[in-house]
Amino acid sequence: MSSEIEEIKSRLNIVDVLSGYIKLEKAGINYRACCPFHKEKTPSFFVSPSRQLWHCFGGCNEGGDMFKFVMKIENVEFKEALKILAHKAGVELKTVNVEQEKRQKTEKETCASICELSAKFFELYLEKTSIGKKAEEYLKDRGLSDVTIKEWRLGYSTNSWSKLAEFLIGKGFERSDIVKAGVAIEKEGNKFFDRFRGRIIFPICDMSGRVVGFTGRIFGENNDSAKYLNTPNTILYDKSKIIFGLDKAKESIRENEFCILVEGNMDCIMSHQAGMKNCVAVSGTALTEQHLNILKRYTNKLVLSFDMDFAGNNATKKAIRQAQLLDFEIKIVPSFGEKDPADIILHEGGERWKEIVAESKPINEFYFDSAIKSRDPKDIKDKKLIASDFLPIIKQMLSNIERAYWIGKISDVLDISERDIIKELETIRIEEGIQEREDTKNDFLNLERKTRGELIDEELAILILLFPEKIDLIGESLLHSFTSPIKDLLLKIKEKRDIKTEEVVNSFQSDDNHFNYINYLLMKSELNKNKDIDIDKEIGVCLKEKSSISKKAEQKKLSKEIKELEKKGDFEQIKVLSEKFNKLSQNNNE
Ligand SMILES: [Zn+2]
Repeated sequence: MSSEIEEIKSRLNIVDVLSGYIKLEKAGINYRACCPFHKEKTPSFFVSPSRQLWHCFGGCNEGGDMFKFVMKIENVEFKEALKILAHKAGVELKTVNVEQEKRQKTEKETCASICELSAKFFELYLEKTSIGKKAEEYLKDRGLSDVTIKEWRLGYSTNSWSKLAEFLIGKGFERSDIVKAGVAIEKEGNKFFDRFRGRIIFPICDMSGRVVGFTGRIFGENNDSAKYLNTPNTILYDKSKIIFGLDKAKESIRENEFCILVEGNMDCIMSHQAGMKNCVAVSGTALTEQHLNILKRYTNKLVLSFDMDFAGNNATKKAIRQAQLLDFEIKIVPSFGEKDPADIILHEGGERWKEIVAESKPINEFYFDSAIKSRDPKDIKDKKLIASDFLPIIKQMLSNIERAYWIGKISDVLDISERDIIKELETIRIEEGIQEREDTKNDFLNLERKTRGELIDEELAILILLFPEKIDLIGESLLHSFTSPIKDLLLKIKEKRDIKTEEVVNSFQSDDNHFNYINYLLMKSELNKNKDIDIDKEIGVCLKEKSSISKKAEQKKLSKEIKELEKKGDFEQIKVLSEKFNKLSQNNNE
């Protein structure tokens, strides 16, 4: 297959392929456009013809080759993208098994028909049978209207062994297909029975609104112990990818520019009924990176209404961390005791729910409040507990400005100097345990791994690419303190003065990695091209920060040396180094 991919890539130009979907404009050696995967007004989506890659510097911060683009924009798997591009390129695919393709297609269609018929069957049972009526009464007692019940196609599965299976077989479906669709179970000894029995049924739809699975909530006489039961993964239903309610919420998420994430199906449906339709649920499963990537197409703002026990729920914390790494802005709905959103809406009204959502707090504020809640910041034991809860949160913050803010805040509350907080932070090791993101092959582009110092160097390089004539603001000796390839870039600009930035970038072509990175910086600089920038001031700020970072590094080295000397008891030398140390911190505060 790889030779076919190469063949396709050699015949097609990424610029032509993408032009079929979005409007590209020339920007230096690259092209730019408004990103098709997130909402934006100024274009931050770049296409590099020389690298045959695209990258979004806006909400998504994602990129890849033409295959990845087609997969994302057409919302298809790799194989499908391969077919689309092969067709465009006039390449005949030998590796695709036509028979197998056909079979898979019919399998999907069959599965969809079975799910649709099952949904109808469950709906009918809710409406027409006496026990179904009881289930309907229960739903109405929980606050759902007739319209809502119809719109969400809620149903009831009778508490019999095989009513649904018999019905489907009567419609001409094979036993094996019914099992594959997830609505029946086959056990050894030729046993064949319905999966959902004596349950209220919530159909789960894919993005096009097609029913692909079900959640069943226990109701009435039922010996089954599980309160909720879900369709297992099938050819259509993959629980790590499907988000309950998204087919009905997507428009509203785009309009409102944020998405409310709740735990239960009922919470989601009630929120829609109350008029907040930008709400989805991750029912019965942890939030995965795939879920987040899907949501990313609609918004980069999430409002979470989860039962958030600060000390507990590691899965939730991990999901939040994952979302932060994907650049989501996260807020947390304040907790309202034991009640879930569906209860709030039922007892206090939809308006109250809207108010509560509007009161949601940025995630770090939430973590901070949770850390100091019911603790005494003057008590030494509590100080330690607060620090051990909140410092790892600070450590993980991606924005320097934010980090600085919270260091100040916690230092005030605990009455411990910022310097000591920073020292303490340095000792904290974070075990991320988070899935590696795709495209991490190129280290230079791996944003999460970058240190503050590296980010500042990058910022400076971007500013100089924008205003090469300002290169003299960076002193000769300082130029050499950068690492390659930024150092080489800056030296080249200094040496050749009136050279065009495009030529500078092209001069890196011999090293793929360096070329990619420099081109990445160029694209980032082009983003700022028409912005009103006080360049001297910006460069000044970066240089100051760069020097403060190197001072801090020096301080770190000194304090390590001082610790060694303490062991030896060499107080003379300690005094000398301490003075050096203090002098550095004074300079920092200037
Ligand atoms: Zn984007």
